This record gives sequence, C-alpha cells and structure tokens, in this order.
Amino acid sequence: MHASDYYKPLDDAGGLWERALIEIGLSVSKANFSTWFKNTAISKKDEGVIILSVPNAFVKDWLSNKFHKHILRALRNIAPEVRSIEYIIAHSVPANREPVGRIEPPVLYSEQLRMSELDANHETGLNPKYVFNSFVVGPFNELAHSAAQAVIKNPGVSYNPLFIYAGTGLGKTHLIQAIGNQIKKTDPGKSVYYLTSEKFTLDYIESVQNNKMYLFKEKYRKYDCLIMDDIQFVAGKERTQEELFHLFNNLYNSNKQIIFSSDKAPKYITSIESRLRSRFEGGMIVDISHPDFESRFAILKSKLKELEFAPSDAVVEYIASAIQDNIRELEGALNSVICQSQLKRRNLNVQEIKTLIKNNIKPKRTISVKEVIKTVAQFYNIEERSLYEKTRRKEIVKPRQVIMYILREDFNTSYPYIGQKLGGRDHTTVIHAYEKIKKDLRGDSLLVQELDQIKILLNNAEPVGV
Ligand code: ADP
Ligand code: MG
Repeated sequence: MHASDYYKPLDDAGGLWERALIEIGLSVSKANFSTWFKNTAISKKDEGVIILSVPNAFVKDWLSNKFHKHILRALRNIAPEVRSIEYIIAHSVPANREPVGRIEPPVLYSEQLRMSELDANHETGLNPKYVFNSFVVGPFNELAHSAAQAVIKNPGVSYNPLFIYAGTGLGKTHLIQAIGNQIKKTDPGKSVYYLTSEKFTLDYIESVQNNKMYLFKEKYRKYDCLIMDDIQFVAGKERTQEELFHLFNNLYNSNKQIIFSSDKAPKYITSIESRLRSRFEGGMIVDISHPDFESRFAILKSKLKELEFAPSDAVVEYIASAIQDNIRELEGALNSVICQSQLKRRNLNVQEIKTLIKNNIKPKRTISVKEVIKTVAQFYNIEERSLYEKTRRKEIVKPRQVIMYILREDFNTSYPYIGQKLGGRDHTTVIHAYEKIKKDLRGDSLLVQELDQIKILLNNAEPVGV
C-alpha cells in the first residue's frame, strides 16, 4: 500500500503527512500500517503543534499510545520545528477522500484490547481506564458497588478489609482499581497500591533470595490503601501467607484500607491458613453475580458512547442475549463486530455477526489441559510428545509458550500448575513464556491470527479425557 492511498491531508503544509506516512510505513508492520493509518490526516499545523485527525477513538488510543514516537520522529525528520502532536477524532470525512487502496487483512481486535494493559501507573499499579465513570451498576453488582463507595468515603474505617469475589470477567479488577483511582483522585496525598497476589508472591520470593526482606516489609507497610487482586493464588504458598498475615495486621492496626478480590468466597479457598482466612472474613465480604439482560445491554451501550459507527440496537440486543456470563467476552464480541464493520465499511449481516460471536466466546473450562496441548500441537504440526521434553528447538519452544499463554489467559490456570503439566517446568519459566507471548502479540499480527485460529479450534474441539 502506498501513502497516496490514504486521505489527502486537509491542510498538509506541503505534503508533510504524505511524506511522513512513507517514513512511518518503513518502520511499522504492513498490517499495522494499513489498519491504523488509514483515514488519518493533518487537519492543522500551528507553529510546532500538529493536529492529527483520526477516524475514531480506537485509532486515537492506538496511535497515541503505541505509535506516537514513530509519528513524532517521522514528522520531525521532515519538519524539525514540530514539537507535539494532538490527536482529534474527525467524525466526517469528505466523500472524495475515499482511500483507493485495497483493504489488507485486519489486525485482529484482540490486539487493541491488550494495549490498554500497558497503561498502568508505575507508582500505584493502577490503570487509569478503570474508573467508576465506565462502570455500569445493575442488580448483579450494586452491593459490591455500594460497599466500594463506603470504602471510598471512609478508607480504613467502614469496611476493612473489603473482600470482593466473583467468577472471571465479571468486573472484580475493574471495581477494585476504580476504588484505588477514586481514593487517589479525592486525596492525591494518599499512597495507594494495586497488585495481584502473584506479583506479591514473586516479590516476596525475590526479597528473600536477595536478602532484602527489610525493604520488602518497609515498602508494603507504607501504603494507605493496599489492593490485592486474585488472592486465591496464595493458596498453598505458606511462607507468602505468613508474610501477608503480618502485613495485614500491621496495615489494619494503623487503619489502612485493605481490599482483596478472589474468584471464590474465603471459606472456599482451600489450602490457606485459618488465621488468614479469618482475616479475610473480618470485614465486608460481597460478591458480584452474573449480569441480567438489561445490565448486559447497558454495559454494551456504555462502550459505544464514543463511537462513530455504532451497531444498531438490534445487534447490541443480539450480543447481549447471546453472551450471558462474562463481561469480558461481551466486550470482546462487541469489539469484533465494530472492528469488522469498520474494515468492511458497512454493517454486518446477521450471519456474519453470529459467526463472529461464536468465535469470540472463550473456550469453556470443561476442555482439559490435555486438549489444549493436543490442539496447539496439531495446529503447529508438531508431535505432542516433544512439548514435554527439555528441547529448546525453536519450532517447539514457540508452541509450548503459546500453550502456556492460552492456559493462563483463557483458563486462568495457575503458573505452577501449567509448569507441572508441561513436563515439570518451573513457574518462572511459565511466567516468562506468558509475558513473552503477551508482548509479541502487540507487534506480531500473524501471531494474533494464529491465536484466534487456535481459539476457534478449541471452541469446536471434541473434549478428550482429562
Ligand atoms: P475480573 O477481574 O472479574 O476477571 P474485569 O474487571 O477484568 O473482570 O472485567 C472484565 C472486563 O469487563 C473489563 O474490560 C471491564 O472493564 C469490563 N467490565 C466489568 N464489569 C463492568 C461493568 N460493571 N461495567 C462496565 N464494564 C465492566
Ligand atoms: Mg481480574
């Protein structure tokens, strides 16, 4: 695709954007280029400030988060006076500015979603996208929501700890991070810290190994509000639990707020010490249940607010009725629909929507680990056996890492268990593999497509014995 296939700039200051696009095209992948730079234009150049118009909020996020440096560099190479770029959403584009190039295969939507995970604040661990503004409250989560509000009003006083539990994709992380963001907003002087229990465990192990326990203790005891996600993963980790117990007491006694999330109620978390369990139970325990149809519809509508090509209410209703038990899947399906209709530049028909949604539903948990391994081996055309062996051959290492990633991402399996199932590997190897694939997915559209394909295979797979 050539730069000339893109919209001619509105106020192009001597073909600046066309020339910049040529340069950007050299430094980003083709699929990314054609997906993200289509329908972009310089709408204004004012001294050193470039106003870049983009077609929608997704492209805006993506360009400003991921390609900002590329864009700035390319522009400055041509026009050194450029200092900054502002991205604006241009809702209507004149008809004669239709691109003439053919549309390339899309970068799948899943990639865009992962982007936002990059945004966590270093100091607090909080992601600014998780706020109450975008959190829909319905009968299924209103109790959890009002407990959260009480905590915000009086941190460390009303409900301590606040313990929120729910199945996967029902809004635990969103809610507990929103509490953190809100406390920070109300009182920026408060130190708030969010992390998962696994990160806590790793941090603990590392401090023990490096003889830095005093720093570890100091660090966690200084927070005014500590938020620990997915606490179920401390099960079976005795030393971590002990450390957490002491940390808890210390924070609690100084009236610091503690917030936990878990996939089950404390009494059902097995392999935790009873004294820790009783700490979990000592404050407010509240669950989030499954959203009803109206809430699912409202959630979908809330995600459409900023969009130019919003699907019709009938489509939204269809999605809301087809996907019932997981908000993450609900979002995923909606995003695929939006992405596909943007690429096709038309609304999808019912059959297309049905197919998309079918492929978007994550494999059910009833599929065994073995089935995942088998499916991935078949997909990459390798012998299943070799995955368990010690070999580091490239053609084996990648599928093995993909399996680890899928087991973690789609099945929420713990790192040690994944390691054990794949030839007794250490959990740090699994974490490394997970992070590697996650990172690669951001830049490698082929890998994104491979993973989507595997997901489809897993959806259609016949279950095998465990
Ligand atoms: P969990 O931590 O329970 O697995 P998340 O908090 O990660 O679930 O939520 C999954 C996705 O659904 C996130 O993108 C989140 O923003 C969205 N989500 C969850 N609950 C709501 C809600 N009540 N309103 C709007 N979006 C929600
Ligand atoms: Mg979560």
